Amino acid sequence: MSGAKRDEDTISIGEHWNEPVRFTIEIVKDGNCRAGHNAGQEFAFEWNTPKGMCSEAFVGMYPVLHSLRVLGDMRELGSEKRNERTYTCPSRVIQFRIVAHYTCNICGCELDIVDGGIRSKRLENPDENLWIRVCDNCFDRYRDKILTW
Ligand SMILES: [Zn+2]
Repeated sequence: MSGAKRDEDTISIGEHWNEPVRFTIEIVKDGNCRAGHNAGQEFAFEWNTPKGMCSEAFVGMYPVLHSLRVLGDMRELGSEKRNERTYTCPSRVIQFRIVAHYTCNICGCELDIVDGGIRSKRLENPDENLWIRVCDNCFDRYRDKILTW
């Protein structure tokens, strides 16, 4: 086979990109805090930093966020759920409950976690070393397309 790929035969990740992990964080324990955090305060974010969060706490929890982004299983660290972790700030005062939500790379719907596994399918293009995690619907819709950046 040769010739240019037609648009209808391809799906471009760049055009459809949806961040595959988003975070919600709730403060579950407060105390004397320079950043003014209070119990019940919530943050929701994807790739960018959460506005208003203590910078030292964010830097301190970043390894947890990164681990969750690459599907690290928090049960290995003693959490009850693979996608949740409680983090205590560097001053040992404020506690944050971090929850990772895994989403379809195309449509953004939340992927279920079943028996500790993230329920998803994989669209891939081995020739380009590209792959994404998608929901059942997007898999059925795009499975015959060629994945491109
Ligand atoms: Zn989808």
